[in-house]
Amino acid sequence: MNAQNPLLASWSTPFELPPFDAIDSEHYLPAFDATMREHDAEIDRIVNNPATPDFCNTIDALELAGQILNRVAGVFWNLASTISTEELRAIEREISPRLARHYAAISLNAKLFARVEALYERRGRLAMSDEQARLLELTFKSFVRSGARLKGVDRDRYAEIAERLATAELQFSQNVLADESEFVMELDEADLAGLPADVKSAAAQNAAERKTPKPYALTLSRSSVEPFLSHGERRDLREELFKAWAARGAKGGKTDNRPLIPEILRLRQERSRLLGYPTYADFKLEPTMAGAPKAAIDLLDKVWLPARAKAGEECKALQAIADAEGANFKIAAPDWRFYAEKLRRARYDFDQGELSAYFRLDRMIEAAFYCAERLFNLRFVRRDDLPVYHPDVQTYEVLDQKGAHVAVFMGDYYARSSKRSGAWMSEIRGQKKLGVAVKPVVVNVLNFPKPAPDRPSLLTLTEVLTLFHEFGHALHGMLSDVVYPSMSGTATPTDFVELPSQLYEHWVLQPEILQRFALHFETGATIPPALIDRVIAARNFNQGFGTVEFLGSAYVDFKLHSQVAPPEDGVVAESDILRSIEMPAEIVPRHGLTHFSHIFSGEGYAAGYYSYLWSEVLDADGFTAFEDAGDIFDPTVARRLLDYIYSAGNRRDPNVAYALFRGRPPNFEAVLQKKGLA
Ligand SMILES: [Zn+2]
Repeated sequence: MNAQNPLLASWSTPFELPPFDAIDSEHYLPAFDATMREHDAEIDRIVNNPATPDFCNTIDALELAGQILNRVAGVFWNLASTISTEELRAIEREISPRLARHYAAISLNAKLFARVEALYERRGRLAMSDEQARLLELTFKSFVRSGARLKGVDRDRYAEIAERLATAELQFSQNVLADESEFVMELDEADLAGLPADVKSAAAQNAAERKTPKPYALTLSRSSVEPFLSHGERRDLREELFKAWAARGAKGGKTDNRPLIPEILRLRQERSRLLGYPTYADFKLEPTMAGAPKAAIDLLDKVWLPARAKAGEECKALQAIADAEGANFKIAAPDWRFYAEKLRRARYDFDQGELSAYFRLDRMIEAAFYCAERLFNLRFVRRDDLPVYHPDVQTYEVLDQKGAHVAVFMGDYYARSSKRSGAWMSEIRGQKKLGVAVKPVVVNVLNFPKPAPDRPSLLTLTEVLTLFHEFGHALHGMLSDVVYPSMSGTATPTDFVELPSQLYEHWVLQPEILQRFALHFETGATIPPALIDRVIAARNFNQGFGTVEFLGSAYVDFKLHSQVAPPEDGVVAESDILRSIEMPAEIVPRHGLTHFSHIFSGEGYAAGYYSYLWSEVLDADGFTAFEDAGDIFDPTVARRLLDYIYSAGNRRDPNVAYALFRGRPPNFEAVLQKKGLA
């Protein structure tokens, strides 16, 4: 190990946080090299152990191998998506295929698999805890799903595909980032007609950061695009912005994702066939709660017709407003949010701007912490003395009831051009108890407008829900209390992993929470009860639109990954799919194919975008446990929630875990009720 390289040295920082200041981009490649070699040596020791395979010398040893590589990767990938530079992007391009090759070599290591298989075959006779029995089964299946049973040319081809896919997926993601960070739409004061003050001030902030000649600027971050589409009175500008947003990844030239889409789909399909599955969707769904494509498609189908009918009604109401104003056009996709905002004002007598005045980012962060204190007895202590990778990052130490250390939490809330768009939770390191116990370091990354010198950052209702959503994921990582690192925190099936996040969204709209934390940013006045009533009454406003927008993307994802012969042209296939489901012309899918990073920047949500809806069945039904108890912080229900969901990682089959929490399997109807589609 090289003492000069801070990534390889031991970290004497508080909580052994990465010494961000000391880490330079030139440290990564040598650190990856050294730690991959170290990981290989650990694997060799397992393989060459003369003792008969047992749980400790094989499964435990595998779980403990590669920890230093994980430490390097934990720093690198977090920084590459939040403070991206050309240097870091070049390292990503170099290291992605090499990491893919490295991990493929381990899963294709015949001697290693032989040990796991020998153990798996004796599983009925081994003395194991339930958690160990599940780990053995997951490890065995994961080897098989990663090609361990392939021989000869199939094996070589498998490794080749893994490497090429890693490169193509990374390229997809870098192309989207490039198109986003390059775009800027400069505006004058007159172009901003209709915009609330906080949206204007965010646009001024953008202009200052980008040093544009005009005083205001819009970017392609969702927090810049959506407010303008909702409030901007200039229809031509809304159209221009919408077009640029939709064109991400399809602008021609070097950053065009259109050639990558069929290639990625083809490679995934070829690999699924090698492994013995008819399609990628069959492969992908095997280890999920849904278990097979049919269950997922059935769920989409159940919601689709009621959602489309609702969207049709909504569209008529929007058209009526436009007609009454003398607009001489049919509502089109770039108009929807604008007229929906007018309709919201007319029906519920408030607009986003009025509401946003009560949603100060800092207060909403406190609200998220407060709910975690009440539910899980956590405390959050701001620590400005800890190392951070960017000055905007806010760091907290998380303590339990007795004051014992639980986790470090970093909130990276503001949009910047070096950050990937969207919102996510990630871990710099995950929790485990095996070997040396490790407490997690968890990050929430958002793209909210940065406060201006004279104005705090104010959020829309959607952004508040996103904040709580990502914090729910963060809690899933921070509260994790399992032995084995591969089962810790959010390492659960994709259609279960959105449960802790979506469930957490329910708390913020409770009157008790709003009264406490939604204070007017200028007057400090509590949000008026009448406004709360209107917000709650409006909760399902525009739900037809939101659900159709989501389902459009979910169908495109699922159908593209269910084809035995993937399409030559992904974008043509996308419109065919949308036509086949009779997607309303006025709504486009939430993610257009050429920037659908969920499914093409990696495999997490590939044939898995339906997961949000699947988990929504669980969260809608799950929250009723608190409602039934008559207390949104009922300690008994909260305790079960902690034991079976938030702290449990992948220790149990998620279907079992859910039933233990709820006392019964989920009731599907709750999701239609929640969305007002019943
Ligand atoms: Zn999520």
